[in-house]
Amino acid sequence: MGKRLQTYETTDIIVTFDPNICIHSGICVRGLPEVFDVRRRDWVRAYAAPAADVVAQVARCPSGALQVRWPSASSAPDAARREPPAGAS
Ligand code: SF4
Repeated sequence: MGKRLQTYETTDIIVTFDPNICIHSGICVRGLPEVFDVRRRDWVRAYAAPAADVVAQVARCPSGALQVRWPSASSAPDAARREPPAGAS
């Protein structure tokens, strides 16, 4: 029985979380606590840090449970997962 994919979206970035593959390393929570905090119901606040910081933290997720997409990046689906779009800082 799989759990539902969670999506946290801002105007700049979409963070998805797949609870079925999270290994509960806590790396996200320790690395960027203003965004990732499991004590909150909305435990991912993608808007609480610059998108580049969120992307960098998501890239450290060892299981791939966290992923990033950009609202306008639908033509480049996988490139967006680990890297910010060209020109982003
Ligand atoms: S870093 Fe990834 S695997 Fe670790 S707790 Fe966060 S979502 Fe789960």
